[in-house]
Amino acid sequence: MMYIHYCPSCHKIHMLNGHKQYCPRCEKNLVELKIDYMTYTEMDAKERAELEANCAIPEELDKIKTTYRMVKYSKWYKEMQQEQAKAQEESTDSKS
Ligand SMILES: [Zn+2]
Repeated sequence: MMYIHYCPSCHKIHMLNGHKQYCPRCEKNLVELKIDYMTYTEMDAKERAELEANCAIPEELDKIKTTYRMVKYSKWYKEMQQEQAKAQEESTDSKS
């Protein structure tokens, strides 16, 4: 499966096989985009250039990047961990 990635360092969109984390060109961190391969291949040069321009804007990039890899750093995940830590503290407290 091909996935669309953006390299903020090269300012380039890369089509890569699989979920890649590092740019094959500069080896810096890549951002994976929500856009799927089929959609990207159907885009014309102008649309691709627009997409690339949007990727260069951090707020826009936030909207179009995938977040699945970041799930464990999400607010939801942190809150869940805090709840678990709290529950553990409470249970050890009641034992002592
Ligand atoms: Zn790069």
